[in-house]
Amino acid sequence: MDPIETTNDSQPPKHFVIIGGGPAGTNCATHAARLGAKVTLIERDIVGGAAHLLDCVPSKAMIATGSAMATMNDASEMGLATVDVQLDFEALRKRITDIEHRLEDSMTSLLQSQGVRLIEGTGRLTGPNDVEVTHNTGEVETLRADIVVLSTGSRPRVPDWAPIDGQRVLTTRHAYPPPELPKHLIVVGSGVTGVEFVHMFNSFGSEVTLVVSRRQVLPEKDPEVAAVLEQSFLDRGVNLLIGARAESIEVSDDGVRVACNDGRIADGSHVLLAIGSIPNSDNLGLDAAGVEEEWGYVKVDHNLRSSVPHIYAAGDLSGKLPLSSVASVQGRKIAEHAMGLHAAPHRHLDYDKAASAIFTDPEIADVGIAEADAFAEGRKIRVTKVPFSVSAKALINNDSRGFVKIVSDPATGVVMGGSIVGRHAAELISVLALAVTAGLTVRDLMESLFVHPALAEVLSEAAE
Ligand SMILES: Cc1cc2nc3c(=O)[nH]c(=O)nc-3n(C[C@H](O)[C@H](O)[C@H](O)COP(=O)(O)OP(=O)(O)OC[C@H]3O[C@@H](n4cnc5c(N)ncnc54)[C@H](O)[C@@H]3O)c2cc1C
Repeated sequence: MDPIETTNDSQPPKHFVIIGGGPAGTNCATHAARLGAKVTLIERDIVGGAAHLLDCVPSKAMIATGSAMATMNDASEMGLATVDVQLDFEALRKRITDIEHRLEDSMTSLLQSQGVRLIEGTGRLTGPNDVEVTHNTGEVETLRADIVVLSTGSRPRVPDWAPIDGQRVLTTRHAYPPPELPKHLIVVGSGVTGVEFVHMFNSFGSEVTLVVSRRQVLPEKDPEVAAVLEQSFLDRGVNLLIGARAESIEVSDDGVRVACNDGRIADGSHVLLAIGSIPNSDNLGLDAAGVEEEWGYVKVDHNLRSSVPHIYAAGDLSGKLPLSSVASVQGRKIAEHAMGLHAAPHRHLDYDKAASAIFTDPEIADVGIAEADAFAEGRKIRVTKVPFSVSAKALINNDSRGFVKIVSDPATGVVMGGSIVGRHAAELISVLALAVTAGLTVRDLMESLFVHPALAEVLSEAAE
């Protein structure tokens, strides 16, 4: 894409210094460079960030391997001779490393082709316009910035009762893959991350116990959607400890024991904690620059500007919605705002309209307002729901589980939200996300000419 010139030729280009090269930082860097800025990106570890190295990509790569195993083990249902598939842990480890390297290489090439200066090192603010970088080689350099972008991400939250050792007591960051395949994994935390790990290790053949502190798995999700996943876990032999809050972990030579507040005990070979994250804002020099924070998250306005107008924060550090997809778009928005493009009318990010997915089996995805929340708020809505069992493509795929649910405004037909449970839900939700963001109506969906046979046809039927 050609650069869009927004700077006056007689002025030197604005210097962006970006600390943290995850999806937020890299996306901001490429867009700012395209818009004519001078850009320096500081990353202490891997270009692409935790998203590529530690979170989204490796977790989804492992889930894809588990799904491939399940498909091959179900081969007889597709008219094939049955095969007995074994997990090759070393091959899996290599596959994950290969994907990470390929992603890092392509991102590094893109940044370099746009003239972004990449520094391997750790950055921190020493004043409102000054960033001190300690290169990984030990050399120290101070950069003068016109615009500073803080995009240092987050890391797993570890309670003081959890003796994390990376061997038997793990956080999500020790699991790609773990030192050995757990015989019996106890997962503490039943949010999106926790349930994905349950699915992943159950599909590899580990026995799995899930400690659920609330009354349902996925406490933030539509109860009807959560119930489908809960039933699927029970069908697959997952032990659910519902309403139990883990309080302590004991490690012995051959296993772990997790004690819960209601007296229940879970014994296993390994335990994995998935109970949220904390921002990487310590040692970032926020005080030195006068940047206000709350619980370690940088306080930002709707343009992602901090209390110091030329210092922005994006991604997990902004305390908005901790998703890689959101971090990327925030990075682009910052580049546009700092380069003056938002003088023209534009759309602010609306986090209530962000699509999200849970890569379990079946997949779960949603966007916009949920049916239960709309009822709780007393809003008038129309809800339509169609199961995948009506879909020819679902039968062809040998997987007709799940449904599409669309929430719309009964007066105008405008699509307000939706949930999809079933195969490829994470892909299909994009259609509803577009409808919600663009204010499309159910009639727009009904009158779109979708492919046949395709799972997307169910979206059109659910819109009727
Ligand atoms: C297990 C798991 C699975 C996930 N799966 C998904 C998913 O499927 N889809 C999705 O959208 N989101 C997913 N997420 C969330 C997603 O990973 C984060 O929202 C995303 O990584 C945030 O991007 P970021 O740019 O803010 O930070 P990060 O990706 O965390 O990158 C921050 C970077 O900053 C660097 N850094 C930190 N401090 C400094 C410093 N002082 N100097 C230099 N560099 C520094 C770090 O090394 C890191 O590379 C998942 C999270 C977890 C835990």
